[in-house]
Amino acid sequence: MIPASFDYVEADSVDGAIAALTEHGDEAKLMAGGHSLLPLMKFRLANPAVVVDIGRLSGLDQITDGGDHISIGALATHQTVETSALLRTEAPLMAHVAGQVGDPSVRHRGTLGGSLAHGDPASDLPAAFLAMGGSVIAKGPNGEREIGSTDLFTGFLETALADDEMMTEIRVPKAAGAGWSFQKFNRRAQDWAIVGVAAVNNGSARVSLINMGPSPMLSEAVQNALAGGASAEDAAAVASDGTSPPTDLNGDAEYRSHLARVLTARALAEAGV
Ligand code: FAD
Repeated sequence: MIPASFDYVEADSVDGAIAALTEHGDEAKLMAGGHSLLPLMKFRLANPAVVVDIGRLSGLDQITDGGDHISIGALATHQTVETSALLRTEAPLMAHVAGQVGDPSVRHRGTLGGSLAHGDPASDLPAAFLAMGGSVIAKGPNGEREIGSTDLFTGFLETALADDEMMTEIRVPKAAGAGWSFQKFNRRAQDWAIVGVAAVNNGSARVSLINMGPSPMLSEAVQNALAGGASAEDAAAVASDGTSPPTDLNGDAEYRSHLARVLTARALAEAGV
């Protein structure tokens, strides 16, 4: 499949990228690794008139200690996140999940910022980010703002980022010593998840679900059950409550609901809940 024609702009700075977004409005799309945007364009599901390439901007792939959190540049690739010693110690779920995305070629091109900005409910890293909690930094023509993890995902492939904003940084709280688990159910290694569950147990539990609704989501049903004193087993039994899983060739909604309950039980056990 060949995408519709578009103009190509290579940004030479963050400000240059934002200026291009401001000039072209919703006609423009940022491209980082291109591993989600280009497939959409080839299927003609996205038809930006202008593609603003931020993939070669330097300095936005650093992973640093921010005190109470780890700061990850939006252009850090999945491979960089996977192999970061800092993340493996302080936020091991993020590093582990990055290593479960696609295959090595995808992990060397795709970026954390791109995965979060894409907002795909079938993606792995938004689930890890939601389970960790934290925030992203968005920069636009009027400066920077911080968007909390629970406010970022607003609908199917939609986020709270404005058309003229670029995500520059992801902040995840330090969670060394916390229990965690990532359960990705797929038919073949390197496939997308049919259903997935990420859990972090850091005093209280955060549990997120992959492919169980129109956007990346926390399971409020499970979290509320645990907060109310339910056992892990009883909490897992409500994992499909409040969800609207899709039906497709990999499974119907009922099958996905069953998977969500089974995988949540495994995740809670592994996270030590
Ligand atoms: P791009 O494709 O460049 O951009 C995606 C979207 O985000 C676009 O709308 C773009 O405008 C926007 N964007 C990008 N960067 C920014 C930014 N800094 N600020 C604001 N907006 C931005 N993902 C999984 O989770 N699990 C998998 O198993 C998996 N398997 C895959 C297998 C294949 C064969 C492929 C091609 C992809 C797969 N992916 C998978 C998706 C992959 O992880 C993508 O790399 C990732 O989702 C998007 O990152 P990107 O840098 O390529 O973003």
